[in-house]
Amino acid sequence: MTTPLSLKNGFNKLPLRHKILIPFFLIIIIFGCVVSFGTYHLIQGALISTANQRLTAIQEIIFREIKKQEFRLLTYGNMVEFQYYTSQESQSDPFFALRQDKLLRLLGDGNVTAISYPAAGMGNYGALDELFRQATASGKARFRFFSNPDVPALLTVAVPLPQVRIEKDLLLLQTPVDTDFLKQIVAPFQTDAAIIDLDRNILVATAEDLTLNNLSDDLLTRLIGGEKISQTVERNGYHRQLYSAIPIGNSEIVILAVDLPLADLDLLMKTLATRAGLTILFALGIGALIFYRLINSITRPLNALLNATREISSGNLSYQIEGNMTGEFQQLAEAFNHMLSRVETLYLEKADQDKNLALAQEQLHFNNLLEEKNQEIERTNQELRVHLREISMLLQLNQVMNSTLEVSVMFDRTLNLLRDFIGSSNLVLFLYHPETKELTARKAVGAEADIYSAAAFKLNEGITGAAALSKELLYVLDINNDKRYLNYKSRSRDKGSMISAPIVAKDQLLGVLNLHKAEIEGFNDTDIELIRATTNQLAVAIENSQLYEKTRLLSNTDELTNIPNRRYFQAILRRECAHAQRFNSSFSIIMIDIDHFKRYNDTYGHINGDLTLTRVATILLQNTRGVDQVARFGGEEFIVLLSNTNKEGASLVAEKLRNAVAAEDFVLSGKDDEKITEKVSISLGIAEYPNDSTDLEVLIKKADRALYAAKAAGRNRSLCWQEDL
Ligand code: GH3
Ligand code: MG
Ligand code: MG
Repeated sequence: MTTPLSLKNGFNKLPLRHKILIPFFLIIIIFGCVVSFGTYHLIQGALISTANQRLTAIQEIIFREIKKQEFRLLTYGNMVEFQYYTSQESQSDPFFALRQDKLLRLLGDGNVTAISYPAAGMGNYGALDELFRQATASGKARFRFFSNPDVPALLTVAVPLPQVRIEKDLLLLQTPVDTDFLKQIVAPFQTDAAIIDLDRNILVATAEDLTLNNLSDDLLTRLIGGEKISQTVERNGYHRQLYSAIPIGNSEIVILAVDLPLADLDLLMKTLATRAGLTILFALGIGALIFYRLINSITRPLNALLNATREISSGNLSYQIEGNMTGEFQQLAEAFNHMLSRVETLYLEKADQDKNLALAQEQLHFNNLLEEKNQEIERTNQELRVHLREISMLLQLNQVMNSTLEVSVMFDRTLNLLRDFIGSSNLVLFLYHPETKELTARKAVGAEADIYSAAAFKLNEGITGAAALSKELLYVLDINNDKRYLNYKSRSRDKGSMISAPIVAKDQLLGVLNLHKAEIEGFNDTDIELIRATTNQLAVAIENSQLYEKTRLLSNTDELTNIPNRRYFQAILRRECAHAQRFNSSFSIIMIDIDHFKRYNDTYGHINGDLTLTRVATILLQNTRGVDQVARFGGEEFIVLLSNTNKEGASLVAEKLRNAVAAEDFVLSGKDDEKITEKVSISLGIAEYPNDSTDLEVLIKKADRALYAAKAAGRNRSLCWQEDL
């Protein structure tokens, strides 16, 4: 199946011209062959039938000539026989023999031999014996064809003569039916002939090289039955032969073969074939030429169109079909060229539009991109704003936490800040006490701060306890849906959401920060993040404050005023006491308290209070000796130790100190730039060692009593301890 397919594919790839020409030539060749062979056979048939007719005609002539000879011999025989009958008395007729002789000689003229044989001589006539015997036995004339190489073929008839005479005679008449005989007949027809006996021996033949049919028994039977058989044999060219049987007398049959050479027919056929071939070739040539020109006249314009199409497909739209064309092709080329110029125009327009479209799309894309970027920037801005708020909140938180060491103040500020930022309704800060394992509210802000500030929870009690125990932030979306919620032991409002954030430092629970919102699910992720940051900061702050408290307790200097603290003062006092005992000397202590300082604080604020405290401490230091010890005793109370000083001396120092403070204008830091000053007075109580007491505690107490006495006396004064105070 591959071969026809590949053949088909191959054919499909051929140029159009070949596709048309190949079938055309094939058809012409097939048609030429069919016509030539048809004609050839037609002519051959016609010629053979003509040959057969000629052969039949010759055969009939030969037949007739032989029959004529046969008839002549018979006639002659009859004539001899007749003479026998007419000579009744032949035996006695002395002229019989003479007449007989004369007749026989007469008959012998013109090719016939007539001889009489005495019947008594039978058995001595050789080949004739048999013929004579048959003739005698049948009493009728008997024919025989004699032929041998020495003598020419002879048509022979033996006639038994009537027994008129005593000696019976046998008459033999012979006429040559030989080569010459046949040649005379066939020569004008340019044919050959032969006579064959039934034993298939050639008796006579006009040509020695005659090729004859090897007659089969069957063929012989058919011939004897009267059939004429013709055939073609090959011998130096074709020959047509006709066979027929010829009866001789009524006892002998020979076969006549007539041979007609077909050389002229052959020549004719060959000429015909050559001419037919040449004609076909010529016709093919002419046809091909005409067809080629015809095809070219079609394919050339088609090729031009094809080329144009190729040019267009390769993008050359300005291509035009050129060359002289005629008829429809001319119209087609014109239409094509017109179409091309149209397409080119359209293409240019389209290219323009495409360009504009691309530009527009680019613009659109750019705008979209811009829009996207804007949105992105907006989003980022939004996030930044949130973060900024967070950062500012954290910064503020940090500032708050670093602004004061006073944890209470720090807590207060932190919680307020967080409330403002998150919008929480209530915030409660619980501190954890490891000794009691209890959480107590340390600071509360918000509408219900009073209720919350009294709250306390055990570990795992309520949501606060749970957050403390787990040290994990708990977000209760709806407090009513959480069974752990205790409503601050039924004292609080009962709706909204809350966050309980543990304050943990180094895995140690320090406290819990609770935040409340009136709405359910009131906190968002940012809130939670911020709460976590705040609790982390708070953890650090609480831890720091606890540490600070511890260090402060261990330190000797008062952190506000930078003068020795009470603890250190007591150590100094003990040393001074020991020294006084050893050297039997005395020393005095002055207890100092600022007048109406609570009011001062309330009026001008704690910060101004602190400033004033520091300033008072400085004044005290400036108005005492280097050996004297000034210390902060606590709050707004100071104590001064005056070595080797008795009550009187101490009283002088006390007054000096009081005056110095009273003289001072304490500058107040206010909101406005205007410088405001305020006056402060102090009251002082004096006690002396060892006169007033040797017990240091009692001594201090007595100085304190004296101070209060001064207060009671109207303040801004100093008093020494006396028994009657
Ligand atoms: P009095 O004249 O009776 O002494 O009146 P007072 O208001 O001073 O009464 P009291 O001594 O009882 O009050 C002490 C006040 O001093 C309370 C507190 O406001 C203030 N105070 C104590 N320590 C400090 C401190 O470290 N800084 C500031 N700013 N104020 C303090
Ligand atoms: Mg006081
Ligand atoms: Mg006071």
